Order: sequence, then structure tokens, then C-alpha cells
Amino acid sequence: MNNFVIAGNWKMNTNIETTISIIKNVAEQVDQLNEVKSTIVICPPFTNIYVAAQEAKKSKHNIQVGAQNCHFEESGAFTGEISLDMIKSLNCDYVIVGHSERRAYFNETNADINKKLKAVLKNNLKVILCIGETLEDRQSHKTFDVLETQLNGCLQDIVENDMKNIIIAYEPVWAIGTGVSAKTEEIEEAHNWLRNYCEKKYANAGKTVALLYGGSLNDKNAPEILNVSNVNGGLIGGASLVPEKFVSIIKTAESLSK
Ligand code: PEP
Repeated sequence: MNNFVIAGNWKMNTNIETTISIIKNVAEQVDQLNEVKSTIVICPPFTNIYVAAQEAKKSKHNIQVGAQNCHFEESGAFTGEISLDMIKSLNCDYVIVGHSERRAYFNETNADINKKLKAVLKNNLKVILCIGETLEDRQSHKTFDVLETQLNGCLQDIVENDMKNIIIAYEPVWAIGTGVSAKTEEIEEAHNWLRNYCEKKYANAGKTVALLYGGSLNDKNAPEILNVSNVNGGLIGGASLVPEKFVSIIKTAESLSK
């Protein structure tokens, strides 16, 4: 298994000034480490990606930058939307697709997410695909049906060779932004299920695809959560905006790396 992926999703927070100051602070702390095996990705809002990438480049380690969304069309009359060509020109390496907030507030379907995912791959960028059940799904014992439907839909036509550019983030909706993460047993059950799904569908690539956990992951619970089998990193919202917390999660990942 590869090393950990620690990705921050800043959502609709920060401006140019705060972007520079957070990345500078993260980079200064990360630069005190001799070696960093984890992949570090920070996903600011579109308007701040360019300066984030400029600032991240100053680190002696590789801090990568991602977008939180994209449009699947190449260009055209889609007022207010952002294309992958635009994203690429910002020195962006990753794009998050299928975040539960996009599904819930912007009505994104698995079919929409599949189009976005294919467009990201076509543009030679890496995908962080988010999936996860709602509390209602979990309480009605539909978690794995929901995850399967999401994966089947979002990964339609995706072949084994594509999987090297895809990361899957399991984010139970009920744990996002609530301050209460899923329990380690729940995370383990979901990640083992996910690994099994990926191995069945994608053979060898399914064995190595990174499976991130997201949902109130922070500096306090990271040691426990990142140690769960088949958890290969985290997608972090709130705590990624606080340099000390985000770097502490990176350090935990480093200490658990083989
Ligand atoms: C997220 O937005 O992907 C997320 C996991 O948020 P938080 O860490 O704040 O729960």
C-alpha cells in the first residue's frame, strides 16, 4: 500500500490573504520535517487556487493543490462555471468530485459526478471521489446499498488503468462538520467493504487505490482513525483550516507510515 494521502477541503472559506497565511504556516511546519512520505493536498476555493499553488511551491516538500469541483464540459455557455482547462492553468493537481454538499445543495447525481470524473481524467488530473451514506441510510441499514449505487454510478466506464488517478473518500454525511466522527469499527467495516468492492472490480488497481476517511477527522482522533485497516488517509474539512491541526494530522500519518 502507498503512503497516506492527507487532503484538506477548505470549502467556501478563506480569501487571498488567509490562503497565503495558512499555506505559509503549514509549509513552515512541514518543512521542519526531514522527509515527508505522505501526499499532502490542499483544496481552496477556485479564486484562491493560484496563490495557494504559488505559496505551496515554496515548501521544500511537495504540497499539492486541488479544486473542490469542476464542470464536465470543455467550454461554452455555462455562466459561473469553471472548466478543467481553467483549473489546469492554475497549477492544480487534484479535483474533488461528488462531495456530499454538492450532492445535497446542488443536486449532483451519480451520473453528473461520473461525467465530471471522466473529464478530470481526460485532462490528466487526479480525482478525489467522495461517497457516503446519510444518517437515514445508515439507520435503515442501507449503507452498503447506497455506497454500491454511488460507486457503480460514479465509476461507470472507468477501467483498471484509470484507477491509478483516482482516490476514493468515504465520508459518512452524518459525520461531516458535526464534530463527531464515525466510530473506528464503523470506519473499518466501511473501508473493508470498499477495498473488497475495488478489488472485485479492478483487480490489482483495487488493492492499491487510496481509501480516505472524511467526517470530523481532526488532530485528536487522527491517531486512532489513520490506524484503521484500509484507511489510507483523510479528507479533512474544518481542521484543515487550522495549520496546527492539519500539520498534526500530517505528522500522525508520517508516524504511521512504514
Ligand atoms: C469534508 O468537508 O469533506 C469534511 C470531511 O469536513 P469536516 O472534516 O469538517 O467534517
